[in-house]
Amino acid sequence: MERALDPMPRLVIFDLDGVVYRGRRPVDGAAALATSLRRSGVLLRFATNNSMATRASYVHRLSEMGIETDSDEIVTSTSATIDHLRAHLPEVRRLLAVGAQGMLDELRSAAFETTAAGDAVEADYDGGPLTASYDAVVAGLDPAFDYRRMAAASSALRAGARFIATNADLRYPTSAGFLPGAGSIIAALRAASGVEPLVIGKPEPGIFQTILERAGVEPAQALAIGDNPDADIVAAHRAGIDSILVLTGVADAGAAALLAGERRPGRVARDPVEVAALLGLTLS
Ligand SMILES: [Mg+2]
Repeated sequence: MERALDPMPRLVIFDLDGVVYRGRRPVDGAAALATSLRRSGVLLRFATNNSMATRASYVHRLSEMGIETDSDEIVTSTSATIDHLRAHLPEVRRLLAVGAQGMLDELRSAAFETTAAGDAVEADYDGGPLTASYDAVVAGLDPAFDYRRMAAASSALRAGARFIATNADLRYPTSAGFLPGAGSIIAALRAASGVEPLVIGKPEPGIFQTILERAGVEPAQALAIGDNPDADIVAAHRAGIDSILVLTGVADAGAAALLAGERRPGRVARDPVEVAALLGLTLS
């Protein structure tokens, strides 16, 4: 058993897939760990690189697994992108969006003037420059991505729109295997436009930084719990946050023992019960 953490963090950020659930199945002990942390007065956030679903849909999904949350405690790469725009790029109002319906819904409910790339194509694209101008192109995983959406978005980027990517995961895991992830779409837009994106999602630190900024918590008072060394642990390092790698997802003990540099977590725990023990908590 590893050395316990002292003192207790003020804020704990859970990754979702591989930590709280695996696909549709809850990870044993994750709900009890969240409850126990909450009882100890620790702030909780649940952070996912997924850009496609709304925070409300995660509140519902977690509730079915015995974890009651408020939508402010859910952070998707889309909601983190919104928080980043508000905090750091307040002049950005008009967006061209390449993404799923859930991303469009979140951007619109945050009061951004949002045109879906598909609609821009209908209204404005005849193979030449767009006639409308956009402050930024926000791009995530768009299951209906096609050549014309790529052309419309890269046209906006070449005309000077900022390029904000929700996340850069090249592959998207599904129960049927891997599909292209947001990062594959970002790579296409980058190639077509010559413009480099600002990436918000893990392993970049933006998603954790927006959580800290909104909660008013210093990096030294926060802890990230994740299953993916390449994403969660690297993002924690880059944001200056301590981390626990939990072996309920993509990494096993053999892989964990070999991790070095930015991929090496602060601690390793087999499961939520061991995470609780590291935090000095006993799960009921
Ligand atoms: Mg994960």
